[in-house]
Amino acid sequence: MREPATEASAIFLHSSVEHQLSGPAQRLEPAPRTGCRSGRKLSVMQTQDSITRRETCPKRMVFGPCGGALPDGRCELPIGACVFPEVVAPLAAVTGRPPARVPRVLTDFSAPPFDPSALRRIAATLAPASDAVLVGEHSNRPDFPPTLVARLLLDAGVRPWVTLACRDRNRVVLEQELRGLKHVGIDAVLCVTGDARGYDVRPDATQVFDLDGPRLAALAASIGVPAAVPEAPLGWPAAARPARLVAKQANGASIAVLNHVAHPAVVADFVAAARRLGLTIPVVAAAAVFTDAGSARVLAALPGLEVDAAAVEEVLTSADPVETGIAVAVREAEALLDIDGVAGINLSGSASSAGWEAAAEIKAEVGTRLTTGARR
Ligand code: SF4
Repeated sequence: MREPATEASAIFLHSSVEHQLSGPAQRLEPAPRTGCRSGRKLSVMQTQDSITRRETCPKRMVFGPCGGALPDGRCELPIGACVFPEVVAPLAAVTGRPPARVPRVLTDFSAPPFDPSALRRIAATLAPASDAVLVGEHSNRPDFPPTLVARLLLDAGVRPWVTLACRDRNRVVLEQELRGLKHVGIDAVLCVTGDARGYDVRPDATQVFDLDGPRLAALAASIGVPAAVPEAPLGWPAAARPARLVAKQANGASIAVLNHVAHPAVVADFVAAARRLGLTIPVVAAAAVFTDAGSARVLAALPGLEVDAAAVEEVLTSADPVETGIAVAVREAEALLDIDGVAGINLSGSASSAGWEAAAEIKAEVGTRLTTGARR
């Protein structure tokens, strides 16, 4: 764990990290091969080529592919194939700061934007059933700045984890938010590149992508903010994803939050592979919460995520889809919590199309059953 003692040392560290991330061509020893099904290998290297490639990536990634790369290697945006022919992993440059507490139940927090009253009501619903809440950053739904959202949630009695996306902020604003979040006492910041905004979503807004998620995590760690990082077990190339997460750990990540997959066995295989490669940070796995066609559709549409089609069918054909959806989420969460190396569950998704507060009540019921062991 390393926290700069002075402002000057923080600036030096940032410069050092940036030098390594954008400096001259440098090749490191390759990481162990991972039995890649696609026949590709993970190359832990940084080359001038990677710097060039980011300019042809819609997210200007240096350390790609991002979690939105589709299983067949296509980009999440309609540009054709992902421009990264293999994983380019970050260098080991920064030691992460562990979060003060690892939540067993980390619940997605969704509230109408710019509405402190609704935020407080939803926080009150989720607080008894969640160890912490995870605030997202949506490309089509701007909200108060993350530091302000964190302060409001702390005042409302919940522990916030806040997502910070590179999509809409340059590196100066990212650092402002990281320092603000540290100041208000946040437990962790989920450092993401961010979903690219579709061409028909706020087309007048510039997508920034000064940094990508791995570099944002390094920046967070370098100023003493616990950095959570996402990983997509089924993102392309899937066989290289465990090593990519280990590389993020070596570069500042102190906890991982996984994308949805359709079956807990996929998570078990992913975590086991990552641990064999040296992963020691806690892993939070995602359990999908949906109770109607709309909330299932939202989850299924997100790039880099998979939802169990049989579970969707079970919920949507049920005589009581809300109760069945809750039971399915509890069942998935319990299976994930049984996996060696999974420390917590992210109750993820919009849960319901019946409104923000109805959705919060559904997620709170899932959290309560997980906490108390109650079943119906
Ligand atoms: S999938 Fe991600 S990393 Fe690959 S080109 Fe698209 S945006 Fe860039």
